[in-house]
Amino acid sequence: MIDTPGRNLAAPSAPVMPLRKRDADYVFYELTRSICPECRRVIDAQILLRHNKVYMRKRCPEHGTFEALVYGDAEAYTSAAKFNKPGRSRSSSPRRS
Ligand SMILES: [Zn+2]
Repeated sequence: MIDTPGRNLAAPSAPVMPLRKRDADYVFYELTRSICPECRRVIDAQILLRHNKVYMRKRCPEHGTFEALVYGDAEAYTSAAKFNKPGRSRSSSPRRS
């Protein structure tokens, strides 16, 4: 009879998959500000693009993370944002030909 200490050990070599991997299906788009729906304090929020939809993820230090769909069409959202950006007016360089 061979007494093998540790034969009941679960294989420790099995890699623990980081849960983060599941979060990788979105693209961070921009940082904005929002309010916590619980306490109404102003908190940082991230605009994320996922599956061609636009989500806002905000995080309150007290109430945790909230995520909400803000726009159903990420392509329209980003192209609209591009044209709405202030300070990109080309009128300051008049064309003379
Ligand atoms: Zn809160």
